[in-house]
Amino acid sequence: MDANGDGIGDFDGLMRRLDYLNSLGVDALWLAPFQPTPNRDNGYDVADFYGVDARHGSSGDFVAFMHAAKQRGLKVLIDLVVNHTSDEHGWFQEAREKGSQKRDWYVWEEERPSDWDKGMVFPGVQQTTWTFDRKAGAYYFHRFHKFQPDLNMENPEVRAEIQRIMGYWLELGVAGFRVDAVPFILETPAPGAKKHELRFEYLQEMRTFLDWRASGAILLGEANVMPEKTRPYFGKAGGGIQMMFNFYVNQHLFYALATTDVKPLTDALEATRELPETAQWGQFLRNHDELDLGRLTDAQREKVFARFAPEKDMQIYGRGIRRRLAPMLGERVQLELAYSLVFSLPGTPVLRYGDEIGMGDDLSLEERGAFRTPMQWSDEAQGGFSNAETTVLPVIEEGVYGVQHVNVEVQRRDPGSLLNWTARMIRLRKECPEIGWGDFTILATGLETVLALRYDWRGNALVVLHNFAGEPLELDLELDGPGSDTLVDLIEQDRSEAEGGVHKIVLGAYGYRWYRVGGLNYALQRQKV
Ligand code: MG
Repeated sequence: MDANGDGIGDFDGLMRRLDYLNSLGVDALWLAPFQPTPNRDNGYDVADFYGVDARHGSSGDFVAFMHAAKQRGLKVLIDLVVNHTSDEHGWFQEAREKGSQKRDWYVWEEERPSDWDKGMVFPGVQQTTWTFDRKAGAYYFHRFHKFQPDLNMENPEVRAEIQRIMGYWLELGVAGFRVDAVPFILETPAPGAKKHELRFEYLQEMRTFLDWRASGAILLGEANVMPEKTRPYFGKAGGGIQMMFNFYVNQHLFYALATTDVKPLTDALEATRELPETAQWGQFLRNHDELDLGRLTDAQREKVFARFAPEKDMQIYGRGIRRRLAPMLGERVQLELAYSLVFSLPGTPVLRYGDEIGMGDDLSLEERGAFRTPMQWSDEAQGGFSNAETTVLPVIEEGVYGVQHVNVEVQRRDPGSLLNWTARMIRLRKECPEIGWGDFTILATGLETVLALRYDWRGNALVVLHNFAGEPLELDLELDGPGSDTLVDLIEQDRSEAEGGVHKIVLGAYGYRWYRVGGLNYALQRQKV
């Protein structure tokens, strides 16, 4: 929300919406980068790590916002974008000078490396990863756009500076960092090399520093890597980062939604099962980036494209989809299925602003701008986001996802709205600690369109069922353990009593059910462990 009327969201505006977020049930906020920036990549090109971009307010506004969040018990995580800086950052400007003290803060080569046109993060938009700088008389490495030169992590001064940045924001009260582009931070510069070695000890250093400065603070990593590669990120005995987004499950979840075939999703859940005791997955549907399908096979990806992004314009970077959740899924029942899933997968559910009201996208906007339009608060001008004539990106005004139809105000007053449904699901999720803490089992149903998960924790158990198919079905479920003859539905007034040890359960088209094993009050019999 934009409080000062310049068309750009700011901390004063965000502060005024904390009660909304709080009543929705949100308990932690992840803020996209807000530091001073030339803003050529939505703030992911930072020009000063120790401040607030004037467009979003002042440092004073930030502290006032942090205070208001703390009053409501909301934790705040901020983006830590330290793989690279903006080329306008003072460090890079200094580094361009030959013989300057900052020279070694970035990655330089005198000759153009043979892999100069390999490894781009934005294929089709970005042409190279090494660009010649005339003033420096050398090529610099940039994993992202050429205006985002990579910092040289091998330099201990750079690593010390990153700790200073973390220490600065921790002192201002943040509860942790969503660490941008983790594998790229850790990779060693290796011009022309096929493989870039990853230095996980740098991640461990960051974690150790974090623990010393703020107990309870976390690192939430963005690392879209194969399951067998994830372990070193979490570290030995949990000495690495505490949380990672589960991109692998996310992609297979969309495959299941697109095809109704659940098997690859259950395989993905098994493949990402093993975690240190103190680590956790962040489970999500959409985020502020494209829906990246790079971990699926070509055949799988084509099926997801066919269902959710049939037009070329909906696809991006040859690997993903630039759409919001609601227009992709279409029907309310499918949205509920998807959200019920993300709330019930092993880990911590992460929602994106606007998905709780089913916001749409604007494909006329460039690249990822399509799904980064302003929040739709009401049906007033600019969707209640701003009083300005023009906003940072245009508010969606046309069509079924326009502010006339999709906004917070109208959904607040409608008990059956997606917003109120989401709030109820968040409350339900919070009442089911088995999901975050417990062990999960994938139950056999003999039906390839059904995902059946069971969670066990401290003598309590949950069974959560999802039907990915557009037709209703009946399934037989056999359960073991105490209380397993009774299943009580946690959403509807319903229960199932087993006959001959078998529960006969009906699931509607795209239906979902959350059951507590043994009855509602079973939680009272909780074992102490
Ligand atoms: Mg503003």
